[in-house]
Amino acid sequence: MNAFSLSGRKALVTGANAGIGQAIAVAMARAGAEVVCAGRRSCGETVAMIGDAGGVAGEVIVDFADPMAGASLFEGANIDILVNNAGIIRRADCIDFTEEDWDAVMDVNAKAVFFTSQAFAKGVFARGGQGKIVNIASLLSFQGGIRVPSYTTSKHGVAGLTRILANEWTARGINVNAIAPGYIATSNTQALRDDPDRSAAILDRIPAGRWGRPDDIAETAVYLAAPASDYVSGAILNVDGGWLAR
Ligand code: NAP
Repeated sequence: MNAFSLSGRKALVTGANAGIGQAIAVAMARAGAEVVCAGRRSCGETVAMIGDAGGVAGEVIVDFADPMAGASLFEGANIDILVNNAGIIRRADCIDFTEEDWDAVMDVNAKAVFFTSQAFAKGVFARGGQGKIVNIASLLSFQGGIRVPSYTTSKHGVAGLTRILANEWTARGINVNAIAPGYIATSNTQALRDDPDRSAAILDRIPAGRWGRPDDIAETAVYLAAPASDYVSGAILNVDGGWLAR
């Protein structure tokens, strides 16, 4: 048996049209999974990348601005692996931060993660199956950050959710883990990379000496979805070029 193979598994990746989610979807397909690419807009590019590589993928449109939108994603779909990747960030000084920016981020990054996971677990339990949940946390699951209060709160929440769901569901056949990516070059961090001072300060602190790439996260997600990690649950794995070790 190849402990890193996802052959015979079916994965659903949220926010699979771009960035880290796209890289995870492609890597999981390369590892043998059939992949459902979920996005608030078409994931056609990701589906085509997987098809070109000889994999199998489909897409579903879902907008987590309604945090209950994931409730019907799993009916009859036999999904074994859920990657809660979709996320947003809003930046403003804490003193000026608005309720709208608070609620928007908390809905997508925290409430939707919980209720999508709940819907997934109901499907797995109903068919007596096994499952894996991979949440995308953040360095701001551990650190305070600057000018991103709802993002920091939501990602601390993702860490807590990962642990409580692992406590309740591991014995029932679902492992729940998270990846805490470091600073990865995607649209999520465009504003930081556009700011020469912030960009230089961040790069200076990363022991690996470079920003991360979506692919750096993707293979870790494959590991957390594969049999190789069957005894791993409730973990939050930093994939940050060494940032948190400084
Ligand atoms: P990204 O390129 O902006 O990707 C975010 C994904 O989430 C996109 O596919 C986006 O769709 C989707 N999304 C946003 N709101 C949604 C909604 N309401 N419904 C459905 N999908 C929605 O940034 P990324 O860096 O790859 O982010 C992926 C995850 O990694 C996020 O959870 C983020 O917080 C986390 N993360 C990123 C970093 C980093 O340094 N980049 C570090 C730590 C954690 P659209 O394309 O339509 O916006």
